[in-house]
Amino acid sequence: MLSVVPRPVVVRAPSKVNLHLAVGDLRDDGYHELNTVFQALSLSDTVSVVPAETLSVTVRGEDARVVPTDSSNLVWQAAELLAAESGRRPDVEIAIDKGIPVAGGMAGGSADAAATLVGLNALWQLDLSREELDGFAAKLGSDVPFSLHGGTAVGTGRGERLLPVLSRSTFHWVLALAKGGLSTPTVFRELDRLRADGNPPRLGGPEDLMHALTTGDAATLAPLLGNDLQSAALSLNPGLRRTLRAGVAAGALAGIVSGSGPTCAFLCAEADAAVRVSAELAGAGVCRTVRVASGPVPGARIINDAAEG
Ligand code: ATP
Repeated sequence: MLSVVPRPVVVRAPSKVNLHLAVGDLRDDGYHELNTVFQALSLSDTVSVVPAETLSVTVRGEDARVVPTDSSNLVWQAAELLAAESGRRPDVEIAIDKGIPVAGGMAGGSADAAATLVGLNALWQLDLSREELDGFAAKLGSDVPFSLHGGTAVGTGRGERLLPVLSRSTFHWVLALAKGGLSTPTVFRELDRLRADGNPPRLGGPEDLMHALTTGDAATLAPLLGNDLQSAALSLNPGLRRTLRAGVAAGALAGIVSGSGPTCAFLCAEADAAVRVSAELAGAGVCRTVRVASGPVPGARIINDAAEG
């Protein structure tokens, strides 16, 4: 039995949108070579970790009932990985409060995994460096390193090799959450199929978009947003075309499918415009629900000081 009631370490981790997602050819290891620009958004999950008799996961919030609570949950894998590496048992209770849609193309599972690494590093007083945490993150999944870092960054390789990007101002987004999710591997396979059948246009490099980010001007950035996975997501879920059209008709500067979808992300000129677009989109009946978010925001970080408690 534990003698004192332990206090949890609570970590918030952001969602992401890919401002630019260029998908290269299929590699021998089954992954595609990516050239992407991520931005971390304020729509986030909260993960708390506390010592317990045995490892367990609970989930509440957005789509909680479809999130696994066994070893297929990325937080479980994060706890086992860190425990094995530090020679201890992974005996913690991990509670996830989901704000990020599940299988929505916004890296929700990766956010939770990053939050678990940060939380357990503090709870177990492992004192791991940023580089060590990065190494564990990359083992857990392609998007986990970005969820740790946050901000705006270029990702290459599978998306796990990151370089921060200077982004001048805060951008305002409206997110249209869809009914149900899309499986990321299925969307990549659909893109391969579309490419085998024809020659859908491919994005070039992100240089112009990076320049637009340094200006901080949403109207300059908007026409440069692009996602090679969008055609595949639309092919699997044709109703998303209506959602994208409705967001722009409601006054957004541009709309794209976020990552592998089906969440659609709309860039707006300013905070007030985002609120107006979200209200109109919510009434248009083209999505399950609507959220307003801003970015860039920081990566996974502790939001209580219980680590010392
Ligand atoms: P990405 O954008 O990184 O490709 P996603 O945001 O589309 O991912 P996730 O929300 O990470 O997708 O979930 C994908 C699948 O992973 C889910 O359907 C679920 O079965 C599984 N999963 C494992 N751990 C988690 C978690 N902590 N939260 C959500 N889903 C999880």
